[in-house]
Amino acid sequence: MIVTRFAPSPTGHLHLGHAYSALFAFEAAKEADGRFLLRIEDIDLGRCRPEFVAAIFDDLAWLGLVWEKPVRRQSEHFAEYRAALERLEAEGLLYPCFCTRQAIAREIAVAGQAPHGPDGPAYPGICRRLSADERRARRDAGLPYALRLDVGLALARTGTLSWHDRRLGRMTADPTPFGDVVLGRKDIPASYHLAVTLDDHLQGVTLVTRGEDLAPATPIHRLLQALLGLNTPEYHHHPLLAGPNGKRLAKRDRAQTLASLRQAGESPASLRGRIESALDGIVQSTD
Ligand code: GLU
Repeated sequence: MIVTRFAPSPTGHLHLGHAYSALFAFEAAKEADGRFLLRIEDIDLGRCRPEFVAAIFDDLAWLGLVWEKPVRRQSEHFAEYRAALERLEAEGLLYPCFCTRQAIAREIAVAGQAPHGPDGPAYPGICRRLSADERRARRDAGLPYALRLDVGLALARTGTLSWHDRRLGRMTADPTPFGDVVLGRKDIPASYHLAVTLDDHLQGVTLVTRGEDLAPATPIHRLLQALLGLNTPEYHHHPLLAGPNGKRLAKRDRAQTLASLRQAGESPASLRGRIESALDGIVQSTD
């Protein structure tokens, strides 16, 4: 049984690219007589807004999508993310990171170079080198900290991992370009990587469809699956839609939001047509 999902973050209105992604997942489930889920990825309480959640429901219903209820909202599941963090911490795979963005930038500037990951320069491991005493002293002093995964240590435990993508084929999961990723943020006991991986498992997702801009993050998710004993779904990273300027669509392109297209009198059928013609101008990689 195929179980797919569309997992938007309610930090803005959905645009044409989201509509494509949502339809892609919906059709993949439908073709296989499977299940389609919607998940609201709202761990970032500072950036997510209830009105955007309401707009997601409205836009997707208008588009003709039907999804299972209740909808999982990540902000209601921090206890589960925290439990996963505690488990990884108990296994010695996490370390507290007290660095500010400025401290990281300074360290990278001093080093003259840093391995570059998909999100910019990888974290240079400053706090990985702190002694147990230093860590305790800083924690006791009440300094805020994030929890990072010691990726080198984690990989030494799991060995080489791989995943299967319907479009890209069998992929070796190399998470090292990201460096030691944050799994628990300073402000919230979770991160995108942790929440998305755990939720896909807990919701029984068997096929993750999403834009190819997220493909570089999949090796991290695969590593977390191995560390936490979670299922590994199949993946299908689809190409991204291009806007009229040939660049990938972004939330800031207001004119392209589904809400504004609807208000301008567009029908769902013509929107699907627009998606098909935009596919002719697919951009293969993100800028
Ligand atoms: N919430 C993520 C986003 O809106 C997508 C997560 C995923 O599909 O894995 O970019």
